[in-house]
Amino acid sequence: MSKVYFTTARATRWDYRKSLVGRLDSLLVESGLMSRFGREEWVAVKTHFGSEGAHRIVRPVFLRKVVDSLKAAGAKPFVTDTVRIMGLDYLEVANQNGLNHLSVGAPVILADGLYGHDSLLVKAGEILGDIAVASVIHDVPAMVVCSHVKGHIQAGYAGAIKNLAMGGVSSAHREFGWRKGRGSMYCHGEVPLTYDAEVCEYCGQCENVCPKDAIRFVGEKFTYDEKQCWFCGRCARVCPTGGLTLPSDDTTFQKSLAESAAAVLSTFAPGKVIYLNFMTEIQPECDCMPSCDTPMLQDQGIMLSDDLVAIEQATVDLLRKADPLPQSAASDRGSKSGDDVLSVVNPRNFALQISECERLGLGSAEYEVMEV
Ligand code: SF4
Ligand code: SF4
Repeated sequence: MSKVYFTTARATRWDYRKSLVGRLDSLLVESGLMSRFGREEWVAVKTHFGSEGAHRIVRPVFLRKVVDSLKAAGAKPFVTDTVRIMGLDYLEVANQNGLNHLSVGAPVILADGLYGHDSLLVKAGEILGDIAVASVIHDVPAMVVCSHVKGHIQAGYAGAIKNLAMGGVSSAHREFGWRKGRGSMYCHGEVPLTYDAEVCEYCGQCENVCPKDAIRFVGEKFTYDEKQCWFCGRCARVCPTGGLTLPSDDTTFQKSLAESAAAVLSTFAPGKVIYLNFMTEIQPECDCMPSCDTPMLQDQGIMLSDDLVAIEQATVDLLRKADPLPQSAASDRGSKSGDDVLSVVNPRNFALQISECERLGLGSAEYEVMEV
């Protein structure tokens, strides 16, 4: 059985060691997993920088603890993410969300360059063929994957697998474009994005979420620049009427997440990647959207493991037992105690991304929780 270390978000004493920050310290020490990283070894601390309006990311104070722990082990950490909007703007977003060298104690860098296409093709699998793994993540020998656990309109659940699969690759490869980047997971088929003026309600949300300004409305006239498009699918995901559609298949999507995660991990030696799942501010959608809703589940705590499948299974098992929060997307949908809130809010087969990762040999769904 794989070990999953867990510490709760509850602070039942006025004592730093009982705070979630103090508990993370204990988790890192007591797991012994920091000994995986050697003296002077460069270690990527992979997180998500959020967006200008999505502030519910892994907070800088937690990343600082991870960085300090790596430094105490003699390693040389840096904090990184792949670009979700153009790089200079994304670094500014990171800074606005409190992620900078001063706060986290290490350089904060882009894993795939300012233009988001510094990547190398890595063999993925039957669905994707090759995928463009961000060059920094491809080259670095070790990584701590710090994931903000949340829901996701298309994935249902987003944790460590999604952080690797989407977050470890570029939006567009320098030569092959989106077809070897994230878009290859979101878009299946030759027909590109389709707009239907008959059902469009001109809400403007597709224009707001587009990271490439590929969509513009001039009055009620829709314009779309396919050359700019990353095929990230955000516009189609947020469209409330079906006015925009991208050819996509749920099963293929969930399986392709597993393939991409496997490709990213194939660039590391065994045992050189560990995972921290932060079950905090668990909101319904991805941190790359232009806004974030109130949390739909109460903070649960932090999990740590060297097994990708085990930590993801343990995380969803715990979240399935959590009550829905009032004044949230969960209560809006009538979710009640005992429901699988993630599935109520975003009804998607997210179990498939985990079972596919197990099938591909990325870990075991059999786990033992070690409470710290
Ligand atoms: S898929 Fe939609 S949101 Fe994404 S880049 Fe293309 S037009 Fe913009
Ligand atoms: S999100 Fe959908 S309904 Fe809203 S403007 Fe875009 S296409 Fe029209």
